[in-house]
This record gives sequence, structure tokens and C-alpha cells, in this order.
Amino acid sequence: MVEIEPSRRWEQSLRYFRWKLTSKVSDTAFEDLRKNLIQDGVEIYDLRAIRSYLCEQLGIERRRYHCCPTGCIAYTKQYANMRECPHCRIPRYYESLELVEAALNGTGPFTDLTPRGYYDYIPVIERLRQLFAIPEYAEKMRYASRLRREKDEEVMRDIWDADGMKHWETKGLGSLSHSLM
Ligand SMILES: [Zn+2]
Repeated sequence: MVEIEPSRRWEQSLRYFRWKLTSKVSDTAFEDLRKNLIQDGVEIYDLRAIRSYLCEQLGIERRRYHCCPTGCIAYTKQYANMRECPHCRIPRYYESLELVEAALNGTGPFTDLTPRGYYDYIPVIERLRQLFAIPEYAEKMRYASRLRREKDEEVMRDIWDADGMKHWETKGLGSLSHSLM
């Protein structure tokens, strides 16, 4: 359910989350701060809850992908059904191979499996939609059409002034890219 008025706890959590982003604080350091705040009587939500809350409020759908915990691969495309990393051989899940096989064969519950590594991804279209929803960023993202209006043949200002882009413009594709930017 979408909350119209965030509770005091949510308001505090979002304020600290904003501080985390603007100050470039790591997830680990934020969690450390959160634990310290709890000792001082200030209870804010953890990062997982805050990110889920924001996605829900903004209508953002995240996609979760499993990956090797040491960063070798993501379990997508040719790796999608693998049970272990083909490079370092670290198993994909914490559970026993029997449970994993049962889940992947459809004879056991898939939801019981816990991946050793994963990341959440917000699709690029969703990112663009959110950026265009902020007037300041929407204006910045239209810079290519501004460049086109303010032609300067003497200077290479950006990729949009490159020969390749000019070529596509003659093919009628330039207006498409400019309309996106
Ligand atoms: Zn690996």
C-alpha cells in the first residue's frame, strides 16, 4: 500500500538516506551509523527496506540477478542455468546441490534457495523515466537539441558534432536521437 504521509521513522530514514547519497557514504558505513543511531534511540530503517520503500513509492520495478560473489559473472544468458561459477567454481547457492537440483528441475521449492551473490538492476528506460520526471535533469538531458540549434562548425563540442552523428542525421536518424536527448 502506498503511504501518502511518511511516518516519522520513514521521514528520518529518508533524510539519512539522502545524506548517504550526497556524502557518498558506503552501504557498510551507513549500516554502522544505523546501529549507532539505534543505540542513541533513533531507529531508522535499513538500506534494503529504504530502497524497497522508494521503489514502491516511485513505481520502479527492480530486477534481481544472481552473480558470482567474487564478481566473475552474472547468471544471465549463457550462465543463466549454471549451478556454480564456471571460473572460480564457487557454488551459486548456499543450499546443498540436491536442493538446488530439485528446485531447478521443478521438483522442489525455488524460493528456498539463497544466492551467494546478487544485484538489483533498474532498467535504463525506468532510469530515463525518473530522470525526465525531475525538471532540472529533464532540461539537462535535452542538451543535444540545444547544441543542434546553436550550430558551431569550427569546434567539436560533443559526440553530436562528430562525423558519424552527422551521417546518421542525413539518414533521418539524427532527429530521433535528438528527440530522446
Ligand atoms: Zn566466480
